[in-house]
Amino acid sequence: MSAAEVPVRKIANPEPSAGKDPAAAQYPGVGQNSGADQEAENVHAFAIEVEGLSKTYGAPRGQTPKIALSGLDLVIPRGSIFGLLGPNGAGKSTFINILAGLVNKSAGRARIWGIDIDEAPRAARAAIGVVPQELNIDPFFTPRELLELQAGLYGVPKSERRTQEILDALALGDKADSYARSLSGGMRRRLLVAKAMVHDPPVLVLDEPTAGVDVELRRHLWSYVRALNARGTTVLLTTHYLEEAQQLCDRIAIIDHGRVVACARTEDLLKRLDRKEMAITVAEELAEVPRAPEGVALELDPPRRLIFRYQPSRTRIRDILDAVRGAGYTIVDLTTVESDLEDIFLELVRRAPEVSSPQTRPPRNPAS
Ligand code: ADP
Repeated sequence: MSAAEVPVRKIANPEPSAGKDPAAAQYPGVGQNSGADQEAENVHAFAIEVEGLSKTYGAPRGQTPKIALSGLDLVIPRGSIFGLLGPNGAGKSTFINILAGLVNKSAGRARIWGIDIDEAPRAARAAIGVVPQELNIDPFFTPRELLELQAGLYGVPKSERRTQEILDALALGDKADSYARSLSGGMRRRLLVAKAMVHDPPVLVLDEPTAGVDVELRRHLWSYVRALNARGTTVLLTTHYLEEAQQLCDRIAIIDHGRVVACARTEDLLKRLDRKEMAITVAEELAEVPRAPEGVALELDPPRRLIFRYQPSRTRIRDILDAVRGAGYTIVDLTTVESDLEDIFLELVRRAPEVSSPQTRPPRNPAS
């Protein structure tokens, strides 16, 4: 499917978001101007803004209430593909369900496309489309009927419905009148995306969109998400596949124990670990051990490979190459391995403190 087939979104600009700007710290350069300028900037900058969002699930008598979100601060710029990562139980679903109006928050504020979910819950819900994880589709309806039903639920007038257009965009046009039970798993997942789009929301949330999906369909969904985003839809994606987040998302927030432990542009997040590995293959069999530059670890991998581990911020590659040549070797090949999101994820999640009590007010986003 090409970007050209994705329906163009037409949304009215909502009322401006008021008050202080939680994004200024998270996104340097955004929202740092003042007064009317800042107000104008806010209108265009954020798809989702949450401040101090908390949720404690009640528990039967004698059991401890469960803190799912503990003062979550997060802003998602408009136009981004934003990844929300975190281990099981981190609070991702709770966060999405609060935005979707399915779970009531215990405290804090949330705005979707500038609309406060407390002040205008219906309008806020209309600004978001959520694609759930489970393939919960009534098997006795056709895709066309399901989309019409959904459009009715959102109060989209008949004259403004784009049922066929959306089905075509998701390559389901020729299945529009088949029973949903006859659709393959991949088609059902695309149908869920179609359902989330009937009311033309500016923000689309995909909850684990490719869990249990084969490689081909995963790539197909990725290209569709990119095409949607290119046409102006802000995408919020939760995923367990770190590679997926790394490939697809321009910004990533990692949450753990109901709070944000990191939030940055994907490439900045990846730079954080400042660890790199370089493998050098030489023409001669290893005999002499080169003198590695200070702070660089060297491992010999006979017969002809040397592996160096170093911090790119502290070590010049030239010094490593000089050390190898200085020991009398001829370099025939060289590969480097960057740290990936998985390393960063594990490091951050390991470091995150435990949530102690419902009163705990965490520090502002430490990544800010
Ligand atoms: P994630 O989506 O990141 O796996 P969840 O938001 O589902 O995290 O869960 C966050 C925490 O809240 C978990 O400890 C989970 O057990 C708890 N939780 C989620 N839903 C409920 C519920 N309806 N009642 C009680 N506890 C819940």
